[in-house]
Amino acid sequence: MMVSTGDSPSVVNDVSDTALASNVSVAVIGAGTMGAGIAQVAAAAGHRVIIFDCEDGAAISAIESIDRGFDKLLLSGKRTRAQVDELLARICATADLSAIADCGLVIEAIVESLGIKKQLLADIESVCGESTIIASNTSSISISALAADLRRPEKLLGMHFFNPAAILKLVEVVSGAMTSHAVAVSVFATASAWGKQPIHVKSSPGFVVNRVARPYYAEALRSLSEQVASVDTIDILMRECGGFKMGPLELIDLIGQDVNAAVTESIYQSFYQDKKFMPSVLQADMVAAGLLGVKSGRGFYNYAAPRPAPVDPDHASSVDGSINVTLWGDFSPIPSLVSCFNQAGILFEHPDPNGCEIPTIICGDISIRLTDGRTANRVVYEEDIDKVVLLDYAADYCAASYFGLSYSSALDENDKGRVIRLFRGLGKNVLLLKDVPGMQVMRTISMLINEAYDAVNQGVCTLDAVDVAMKAGVAYPRGPIAWGHLIGVAYIVRVLTNIKSGYGEERYRISPLLMDEWYRLRLVMPSTADLL
Ligand code: NAD
Repeated sequence: MMVSTGDSPSVVNDVSDTALASNVSVAVIGAGTMGAGIAQVAAAAGHRVIIFDCEDGAAISAIESIDRGFDKLLLSGKRTRAQVDELLARICATADLSAIADCGLVIEAIVESLGIKKQLLADIESVCGESTIIASNTSSISISALAADLRRPEKLLGMHFFNPAAILKLVEVVSGAMTSHAVAVSVFATASAWGKQPIHVKSSPGFVVNRVARPYYAEALRSLSEQVASVDTIDILMRECGGFKMGPLELIDLIGQDVNAAVTESIYQSFYQDKKFMPSVLQADMVAAGLLGVKSGRGFYNYAAPRPAPVDPDHASSVDGSINVTLWGDFSPIPSLVSCFNQAGILFEHPDPNGCEIPTIICGDISIRLTDGRTANRVVYEEDIDKVVLLDYAADYCAASYFGLSYSSALDENDKGRVIRLFRGLGKNVLLLKDVPGMQVMRTISMLINEAYDAVNQGVCTLDAVDVAMKAGVAYPRGPIAWGHLIGVAYIVRVLTNIKSGYGEERYRISPLLMDEWYRLRLVMPSTADLL
């Protein structure tokens, strides 16, 4: 059922779990990148849309940019001129804020400044009727703070679209301390009716996506600072093994080094300098140097020159069929590695996995293990084995063309050659990482999972919503909660525990909800020891 606020919004005090009817007018304030996209989405859903901007001509330009945005679809025949004209006819520009008086929903998408937004919201409230819902597209300002001086704070909420708003499905429907539940539910239903994937979010720093995504950038920046690997090695591993569309460093270059650093800084300060969100000194230095990424021509990459090919250690080019291996341990966190051996036709023994929880490839006197968060040298020290090689996590070892490895100090050149020949036999290239806790991919994914649990633990959203957010908002290959279950919550807890003890840093503390999940699963699932 649709609710109509119609021509007399004052009769609609009772917003319910229904979407606003398409005959309700929508106002968009701020005709920039986001405002234009949001206006297009609302008009496409059948609403009359009024755009207001304080800059002369900006609202008209936004309508023209919406029109231009259809050029490709018109050329490919996916839209007709008549369809586009019909949509555009529903959008008008105004230079007079009082023209939005009869709108049932007003979405502001102006400059990201608490003071300027608060002034505008008060103006909107004084112009519009009592039932008008006011939404802010802010990406970082507290909804509670924006609502503080309003007469009807219960009618204000966040409606956080992602860029480009016309294409990306996620909308974070953000409730501040005073937002009415019915308003949030109605806006959620409206966003769904607009073809979006909304999630309910409690206002807190970074909301869901910008908060949960922090480790994606932070762990890459840390690796770079600690000289774990080169820029392109980090990006290749995150794409090939993590399955992400863009590596973290190339993504930062695209977003803008300054913009990315500012979001991190804002979340860090908002959480009273929680070490989990600590900004990167290396990134601050790049911002200071003007190495802002694509927009300045240089960031982690130089956009004036072609990218160099990644360096692959060239120990052997041919497959050595004489290497015998045994797969030892429980491969349930990474079943695709077993498939990878099968597909390559490499014969291996796989004795009963009980007794060894870490997936391990035994190759003569060399033990090649999935990282469990310890460094290779720590494994040597703690387990009295000489030669340890760590393998970084891959979501799909069959699909990845690069694997990340770290060596313990005892490996000589012959040993390294043997390991590389083994992986070449699987058709894989090898990228070497410095021996650090959790390597690159495993550390990042474990931290994403941990942060997702922590956001849920603090009531920011539900477990389901965090997965929707990260897939629909930033196109992650999997939701972090589902990913945790795929690898195994026990394994993630093991990795994080080891990383935390390796670094001795608060940053890697485990979310209480993730720990609780681990205890809960251990209560219902037999452990390896129980099976013996
Ligand atoms: P933008 O700079 O492209 O556009 C802002 C527009 O607001 C400009 O046209 C400006 O003239 C107008 N404006 C400024 N003050 C105004 C006022 N007092 N009254 C009316 N109009 C005013 O900005 P944007 O990138 O579209 O971002 C807008 C909002 O959306 C910000 O809060 C931002 O944090 C948020 N956001 C941005 C993105 C993004 O990727 N750009 C993504 C999600 C959310």
